Amino acid sequence: MQHDAAPPNRPQARSGIDRIEAYVPGSTSVAPGVRAIKLSSNESPLGPSPAVLAALADLGSELALYPDGEAKKLRQAIARRYGLDAARIVCGAGSDELLTMLTHAYAGPGDEGIITQYGFLVYKIALLAAGASPIIAPEVDLTVNVDAILARVTPRTKIVFIANPANPTGSFLPFAEVARLAHALPRHVLLVLDAAYCEYVTRNDYAAGLELVANAHNVVMTRTFSKIHGLAALRIGWCYAPAEVCDVLNRIRGPFNMNKAAIEAGAAAIADVDHQAAALAHNQRWRPWLAENLTSSGIEVLPSETNFLLLRLPGTAGHDAAAADRFLLQRGLILRRMDAYGLPDCLRLTVGDEVANRLVVEAFSAFMAAPAEPAHA
Ligand SMILES: *Cc1c(COP(=O)(O)O)cnc(C)c1O
Repeated sequence: MQHDAAPPNRPQARSGIDRIEAYVPGSTSVAPGVRAIKLSSNESPLGPSPAVLAALADLGSELALYPDGEAKKLRQAIARRYGLDAARIVCGAGSDELLTMLTHAYAGPGDEGIITQYGFLVYKIALLAAGASPIIAPEVDLTVNVDAILARVTPRTKIVFIANPANPTGSFLPFAEVARLAHALPRHVLLVLDAAYCEYVTRNDYAAGLELVANAHNVVMTRTFSKIHGLAALRIGWCYAPAEVCDVLNRIRGPFNMNKAAIEAGAAAIADVDHQAAALAHNQRWRPWLAENLTSSGIEVLPSETNFLLLRLPGTAGHDAAAADRFLLQRGLILRRMDAYGLPDCLRLTVGDEVANRLVVEAFSAFMAAPAEPAHA
């Protein structure tokens, strides 16, 4: 045995972890004395279904007991809602947990995972944490490009992530393009379709990916209760996956990764179809209203199939994204800065309730009408 160098004098995290820039959640702080209106994390302005609150109220007597490790009640409720086989559903503490588990299970040191230029930052963090290399496929017009992904596939590629529709761009890929990607990828590459916003899409050239999963061994679809179901605080996600992938996830997940509150709340939420319809109707009403009014103020509003809008500030006469963000924060309006996604001229705005939406439009209109703020103000 050779002992060239002395061992380090403290534990060393795996290489790659030092390249991770920790995920920064949407901000919650505003100017003192101003009521905060959070429009930075794509949460539901309607909140959860009343059925969820009723289910949670009954929990008290059961808190001493471990929850069902298989989260059967939740998986069966999801299966009923979408006509799926419950055995092919795995739940996670948010879809974040599933995205992380999938990455760690299928990619490691020496492997590559393909993500896209403006892809959700969680994919990159998960790949680096697993010791794998993130390979970035450029997008075209802020939209995932299938040919750019396929051009980056190598023998080392193990996993490909796309969000459809995408965060933070709001753009989407038609089903035909997703199917083309799925069919062109080598069989050993796992394609992860992150459908966190699928419930908001009403186009008929879109599908979340259930059929692709049903007919392939290498496609997984992830979903979340954090957006249209208004349950971000409870951390509930699920995936529909090939049987072999479910088996892998069930081996590596924490034995009780779904807590009792999440199981009960999720089962109640998924059954309340009327509440989901109300959340969709709200979004259908206010997203175009926001887009139209913000466009009138001179802001570029990118097309969106989600519950948020990506806004591009003109940047002229001091009307840039950083100045707009400061201006809105003075009024308690918290949007998401996009610097971490390489879009420093943009802000992301979640569709809020009526009061919030009207305040946002007024604020942007005042900001765009105001003269440039002095430098270093
Ligand atoms: C919000 C979001 C999720 C959901 O994450 P959870 O962990 O389920 O809260 C997943 N993917 C994308 C792209 C998102 O924007």
